[in-house]
Amino acid sequence: MSTNGLPLRSLLKGVDDPIFATLRSVFGFREFRPNQERVVRAILDKRDVFAVMPTGGGKSLCYQLPALMLQGTCMVISPLIALMKDQVDGARSNGIRAAFLNSSLSSDDRDEVMQKLLSNSLDLLYVAPERFILDHFRQMLSRVQISMAVIDEAHCISEWGHDFRPDYLSLSDLVTMFPGVPVAAFTATATHRVQQDILDKLALRDPLIVRASFDRPNLFYEVCFKENSDAQLVSLLKSQPGKAGIIYRTSRKSVNDTAAMLKAKGFRAVPYHAGLSDLDRKRNQEAFIRDEVDVIVATIAFGMGIDKSNIRFVIHADLPKSIENYYQETGRAGRDGEAAHCTLLFAQGDIPKVRFFIDSMLDDAERARSLAALSKVISFASTSVCRRRTLLEYFGESYPHENCCSCDICLGTREVVDCTREAQMLLSAIVRTEERFGATHIVDIVIGSSNKRIRDFRHDQLRTWGVGKDRDKKYWRQLVDELLAQKVIGKSEGLYPTLFLLPKAASILKNEESLQIVQLLEKKKIEKVRGELLAPYDHDLFELLRTLRKKIADEQGIPPYVVFSDRSLRDMAALLPRSAEAMLSVSGVGEVKLERYGHQFLRLIDRFCSDHPDRESL
Ligand code: ADP
Ligand code: ZN
Repeated sequence: MSTNGLPLRSLLKGVDDPIFATLRSVFGFREFRPNQERVVRAILDKRDVFAVMPTGGGKSLCYQLPALMLQGTCMVISPLIALMKDQVDGARSNGIRAAFLNSSLSSDDRDEVMQKLLSNSLDLLYVAPERFILDHFRQMLSRVQISMAVIDEAHCISEWGHDFRPDYLSLSDLVTMFPGVPVAAFTATATHRVQQDILDKLALRDPLIVRASFDRPNLFYEVCFKENSDAQLVSLLKSQPGKAGIIYRTSRKSVNDTAAMLKAKGFRAVPYHAGLSDLDRKRNQEAFIRDEVDVIVATIAFGMGIDKSNIRFVIHADLPKSIENYYQETGRAGRDGEAAHCTLLFAQGDIPKVRFFIDSMLDDAERARSLAALSKVISFASTSVCRRRTLLEYFGESYPHENCCSCDICLGTREVVDCTREAQMLLSAIVRTEERFGATHIVDIVIGSSNKRIRDFRHDQLRTWGVGKDRDKKYWRQLVDELLAQKVIGKSEGLYPTLFLLPKAASILKNEESLQIVQLLEKKKIEKVRGELLAPYDHDLFELLRTLRKKIADEQGIPPYVVFSDRSLRDMAALLPRSAEAMLSVSGVGEVKLERYGHQFLRLIDRFCSDHPDRESL
């Protein structure tokens, strides 16, 4: 049987399935994200699970939903004490009975949580691994009905991972401790080697193994040539006013300088790095999480344990250390599934600084690893291959589409230009001066400068002198960088580095090989493409909804994104719901949130619609 060509079953999907009913009524979602349903069903079938899902993949729902449907308390072991409160606030905002136990609680609060646990009135209990080791805690657990055990950040159990925690080894007896209770382990980072290690250490019983794609479809990736980073940062921030974002910089000094520069220009920006006092760091992080400042300028010390779901952009104003770092750092954007922008400002000129730092490393193996990682970053930034494809291939995943439609390369905001002839001009200037000069002088020859040095060496007599005078110095300098990046030429070490040819140069000079470079198109075009990426919604209403969200969050002492996600606000600003029922169709609005906040938001939308009778739902 079918209706309008759709199988009836798909129309009825979830109507009488308790899993879908809970997904809707508690979480306010109509659909699962990829893999969530499989994991939920496996847990409900009392099967162990091991799942690798990227940040923002929706891991919490994978255990929170079955926790509601199973008898007893779901115990979540998580190493990030700083995050537990946010996770509990998030669960509670959907009406889930959740609590946490860790060293930050007063003894009174701890007793209260224990009491709730013993009286079977908790759906979810978050605990730190160090508590799990304690004998008296284990004894208490034996008096409680545990529905399932969850290990968050499971890679911490592996010495091969980047975040090994010895405490986590104690989790290996979870399986024997609770026979018959499903154990689900989650992580966002696991190479195949780490995966096997986790499975061995935890001794999971015939687990369902899920490896989700690492693709983050809502992230837009772009690389811009870094020219004047201050001006570029200002213009990037101006293109997304009031949006929350992170700017990563390498050094503490550049973090301070950039934050001060942005502040002076009127942006709400704060710095974050390990050199600040604990108090300042905490205060700045808190201000960012609570939407009190828009931009946090940070070293890579910032980010671990940040659950803020409405980060709309991440800018790397300096080179990231590795592709893995880049993926993790950009991954902090757009956890809510809404569009977010990742920009890397890339200058060939930054490479020597990083190389200098790497060269000073004492450990040979570490130096070699860092160099290899750097060269992958450089090739990511300078190739004309889809950024997404490059990132995914790094993680051993092959991207199935020709065009990702969400990176600068695929959107054609860049074009590939053949510069073989221009490259030949530079190369022949290098050859004719016997590889004894640096980039500045070579460029001076090509543009036909007649400065003193040129005259002294009689280089104005060379046949290549002035062959490139119809282009400016900047163009030729960039082309030199490009030739260096593409390993057509090399640069000697030392105080006065000179340029020399590499084997590829000979093929280019003989016209056996061409030189392609990826070029930035007009800025206007890029902005147009950006605008098209956003689905339509009423921006004025969105801002009002955001203000209301902030007010409620402050009153309740929770982060704004816990009240409603950006996605929920955007849905409201597009659908203009006027009734409780319509409100429930907004993504992320479940029954508890409707009851708690629905009327305030409905009232605001009502008022907005009567003030603006011309606005219609989009
Ligand atoms: P992770 O822990 O995997 O990084 P989270 O569990 O924090 O991800 O979820 C990220 C965001 O995605 C949250 O804002 C959450 O509400 C949202 N989310 C989770 N599942 C769904 C779904 N099925 N539909 C829409 N949004 C979802
Ligand atoms: Zn792409």
